[in-house]
Amino acid sequence: MFDEEGMEKLLLAGRIAKAVRGIAPRLVFEGAKVLDICEGIEGEIVKLGGKAAFPCNVSINEVGAHYTSPPYDQTLVPPGALVKVDLGVHIDGYIADTAVTVSVDSEHKDMIGAVELALEKGIQAVRIGGKISDVGPVVEKTIRSMGYRPIRNLTGHQIELYTIHSGVSVPNVSGWDTSGKFQPWSVYAIEPFATLPKAAGEVKERNPGNILHLVKLKRPKSEVCAGAYEEIHSRFRTLPFARRWVANLGNAVEEMLSGKMLYEYPVLVEATKNPIAQAEHTLITTDREIIVTT
Ligand code: MN
Ligand code: MN
Repeated sequence: MFDEEGMEKLLLAGRIAKAVRGIAPRLVFEGAKVLDICEGIEGEIVKLGGKAAFPCNVSINEVGAHYTSPPYDQTLVPPGALVKVDLGVHIDGYIADTAVTVSVDSEHKDMIGAVELALEKGIQAVRIGGKISDVGPVVEKTIRSMGYRPIRNLTGHQIELYTIHSGVSVPNVSGWDTSGKFQPWSVYAIEPFATLPKAAGEVKERNPGNILHLVKLKRPKSEVCAGAYEEIHSRFRTLPFARRWVANLGNAVEEMLSGKMLYEYPVLVEATKNPIAQAEHTLITTDREIIVTT
């Protein structure tokens, strides 16, 4: 739920996210440093008056989500890649979440058109008071009709204040048991993912991807961790943040990870290592309207 002031902040976050997404194609090219893409996106968010709601995710080929550059990352964009740039903007905790896939001369560039059309059709299937499970069949049918396969275990999600994933998922396929309905005065991200028809069509958790978030909202006893906790909580609350952003905290981050005070997201990779394309918008509902903010 949000009020009038919240609505203005959601719309502003959306406008900034849309503008920042627009620079992704310029930042992504063969041989570009992934670190430069992350910093370019995050820098533009701040320049336009927002804050990053999570680290810029740059997911290449079979990587579906949850990779951001560690400090000093030397990874380069390879030739023939599908590169997903997923970014989040917040204004006082009011979030916009959006993603675009850029083809670097990829032979699978048509997959981008499939997820973009699926996103458009998926959004058209949203009704206030309608079932959340109305979206998945439309997204799945669109992706399949264009000769691709949806990723069944990556979903859209409801968004709340300072919370990127409220716990309510918006599936991209039929057959999910979701009795939930789209509520008025709420925020949802719709995000179809597609892969090749020969692929498994699901992602698996792999190595940690340098994206962390605070788990325990309790000041730790250890002096080193307590200082780090205060800083992390004041800067990010429970929103995801990058290892890059807390390099100043040194070993406290590792200590908090081993003490389960922090969680590090694993990178999500297509189970059969086939390439993935993604498109994403955030929408808000009023009591009568659906507004795509991004
Ligand atoms: Mn996203
Ligand atoms: Mn999302």
